[in-house]
Amino acid sequence: MADVLTPAQRQLNMSRIRGKDTKPEMLIRRGLHARGLRYRLHDRSLPGRPDLVFPKYHTAVFIHGCFWHAHGCALSKLPATREDFWQTKLAANAARDRKAVDTLLAEGWRVLVIWECALRGSGRLPEDGVLDSAAYFVRNGARPVLDIAGQKNDQGRARK
Ligand SMILES: [Zn+2]
Repeated sequence: MADVLTPAQRQLNMSRIRGKDTKPEMLIRRGLHARGLRYRLHDRSLPGRPDLVFPKYHTAVFIHGCFWHAHGCALSKLPATREDFWQTKLAANAARDRKAVDTLLAEGWRVLVIWECALRGSGRLPEDGVLDSAAYFVRNGARPVLDIAGQKNDQGRARK
């Protein structure tokens, strides 16, 4: 794919958070570990390969970069060039995410999604608050699914 990108797009590409061991992911890992929770990483046997899995609590956690996972917040604005390309690509990512969550829920897992914008950007929340909410959900969450995201999510594209 790299050869179809202009230098500007490539730079954008590199600036976006993607893949394993990103900064928000490390922060969440450290914070939950410090709160006494033990996890498995990147479990390939589960739908969507969750970033963290808490087998004892039957809970899967995704830490999503807002751009790559099409969050629709201020951090996920589309590049000005090749908008169609990005729209198609990112919509496919979001569809894959939804399917993974649906499958996990159907298999009896609880699912926590922590969005990048909860920890970065002008709408970010206090780190300890994010970590406390996440740890509480893992241990005691009564509902099957929880999203933790930054404030001001009315900006940018609407969430699909
Ligand atoms: Zn976001």
